[in-house]
Amino acid sequence: MALLSLVVPAFNEQENVAAAAAAVKERMKAAGIAYELIFVDDGSSDGTWGCIQEEADKDPAVRGLRFSRNFGKEGAIFAGLRAAKGDCVAVMDCDLQHPPETVVEMYRIWEKNDVDVVEARKSSRGKENFLYKGFSKLFYGLLKAVGKIDLENCSDFKLMSREVVDALNAMPERQTFFRALSSWVGYRTAIVYFEVPPRNAGTSKWSVGQLFRYAMRSISSFSTAPMQAVTICGFLFFIFAVILGVQTLVSKLIGHAEAGFPTVILLLLLIGSIIMFSLGVIGYYIARIYDEVKFRPRYIIQETTDGKGQKDITKD
Ligand code: UDP
Ligand code: MG
Repeated sequence: MALLSLVVPAFNEQENVAAAAAAVKERMKAAGIAYELIFVDDGSSDGTWGCIQEEADKDPAVRGLRFSRNFGKEGAIFAGLRAAKGDCVAVMDCDLQHPPETVVEMYRIWEKNDVDVVEARKSSRGKENFLYKGFSKLFYGLLKAVGKIDLENCSDFKLMSREVVDALNAMPERQTFFRALSSWVGYRTAIVYFEVPPRNAGTSKWSVGQLFRYAMRSISSFSTAPMQAVTICGFLFFIFAVILGVQTLVSKLIGHAEAGFPTVILLLLLIGSIIMFSLGVIGYYIARIYDEVKFRPRYIIQETTDGKGQKDITKD
């Protein structure tokens, strides 16, 4: 029988670990699915690791990895994918906003049909405030326009076959965007819809800054369109400058040159701002290259519940 690995990133989720483990166990038992549950403690500062250890002691199907600090959800997901031994792997949130019964549904689809990825989409965006909804719409619109990937209402909630997980594990890049990479690798995909329930306990772990950096990183890792836009801008301004230059020259030759002071100031400001913006975009990509060539590990695993530290982590 096919083994299902469940990867659950957890950051300060002490109120949710036990509930998540219990919910998963109950559903999997009822559905008769062989599973392993891997919690990845993303450098929590509360009692999350203690809770994970407790669960692992109670149930041999539960394992845990603990990061040395908070490396972010992406790192946690990829560490979990590496640790997973299953024939298929599902990634879900710790706060039960990704219902385990949907995992069962996804597993059934994977089992019966010839698909490699089963993606769960939010049928509605749940209880989010309108600012958050607005920004996420803008972000996905931008991503669709520049990166040619449609991820609206997608989440990190997916089930993947061993083949896909191996393909993802083989990716050398450090700055990952799981949601998009799992569709970038291709393979046949099925979609299920789920209603997002409210968070089981605690509050959302993302800060506005974190979300902004996440959005910037994902757009830049899937598209060089901003850089191309800069080039086009530069070209347009060059043409504009030539026309303006010729016009100035002609009017001077004819003899009625204007004072033109406002034009100069306006142009200076405009061109200055375009140049600064362009430098910023280019600088951003250079920073990304810098980050990639540093070859730092994506995460550091300090501890695991089976007691073995992962010595080979520098290769990650
Ligand atoms: N998470 C994580 N590292 C972080 C932030 C979040 O591992 O730096 C985990 C968190 O514990 C949860 C999942 O990512 O299991 C989703 O986080 P959250 O519920 O805060 O996000 P939201 O549901 O608001 O998108
Ligand atoms: Mg959540």
